[in-house]
Amino acid sequence: MPDGVTLSDQLRRQIKASGPIGMADYMRRANAVYYAASDPFGADGDFVTAPEISQMFGELVGLWIADLWMRAQKPADSCYVELGPGRGTLAADALRSTAAFGFAPEVAFIETSPVLRARQTAAVPKARFYDGVDDLPQHGPLLVVANEFFDALPIRQMVKTAGGWRERMVTLDSAGSFSLIAGEQPVDPLIPADVRAAPIGTVFEHAPDAAAILYALARRIEAQGGALLIIDYGYDALGVGETLQAVKNHRPASLFEAPGTADLTAHVSFHELAHIGSAAGLRVSGPVGQGDFLRAMGIEARAQALVRNAPDKAADVEAALRRLTDPQEMGELFRVLAISAADWTRPEGFGPEDPGAA
Ligand code: SAH
Repeated sequence: MPDGVTLSDQLRRQIKASGPIGMADYMRRANAVYYAASDPFGADGDFVTAPEISQMFGELVGLWIADLWMRAQKPADSCYVELGPGRGTLAADALRSTAAFGFAPEVAFIETSPVLRARQTAAVPKARFYDGVDDLPQHGPLLVVANEFFDALPIRQMVKTAGGWRERMVTLDSAGSFSLIAGEQPVDPLIPADVRAAPIGTVFEHAPDAAAILYALARRIEAQGGALLIIDYGYDALGVGETLQAVKNHRPASLFEAPGTADLTAHVSFHELAHIGSAAGLRVSGPVGQGDFLRAMGIEARAQALVRNAPDKAADVEAALRRLTDPQEMGELFRVLAISAADWTRPEGFGPEDPGAA
């Protein structure tokens, strides 16, 4: 963008010249600018993610990967892949904890933001960067982690009107401010049959980029072996409702006031992600709550060990444990889903196998 021209100016010009734009387009461009320019994590940023709360999070994700890899007979050409690694903290903690098991993979980061790429290189010097799933190494199993990645990907919003389902678009009102409008084209065939009869005003969200990324990864895991662990906030069942929001300084912000300066985020449909995994013929485990997953991976024992080693840190460790696992905090809203190669063993952390499962 030329200096002085904000994303807001650009979008206004585009809408004036060629009409309303879809919500997904708006969100994609706003987040590209937002992440390209900033390091939003931490207490003095816009939001805090699980790996920034405690090293326990990344260590247990690492353990989850190392366990699967060992049960797959330790394939030597494996690759640790992370989607949107933020500050690189999760990867650094995970790879430190897995080194003890002899897991020393190639490291591939999919990241668009130059600012965050620099931070990630500082945290994990051997990481190599890739623009997308299609560029990832093709030789060995891929062990993929995505924490709070999918919620940042653009969503389309369809809204039920008196004239049927329409795509929600962003336009300009008479004062020149961004506002919402229902598109002219009916989009009823895009709406799942179970949802189509919903009352007027209902919003249905779909994440096209998330679906495309997952389809591509699923094909790779099927061909190369491996697994994908997705952790994010979202919902398990097919559902309706508007979840898109802007977050700035740890508080809800305006979607439209200054696009590119707040994080735009939407709840993740684990229903849809799980469906893509099973349609690709892969093993799907979960979703389960983050609290249940971390307890099954041994977070309580890990917390005790940390306290034994540093008794003066006991209160911090206890607070982090609560924040990551308590149902009132991140324990239930955050869901964990694994999608793994059908011929790999069932991953840890998801409780006893469902007797009805295939
Ligand atoms: N996983 C990290 C960061 C989550 S924030 C953590 O848990 O702390 C989202 C991350 O995804 C950021 O690193 C952001 O730059 C990156 N990102 C967002 N959209 C992306 C896209 N379309 N392609 C690649 N990376 C993206």
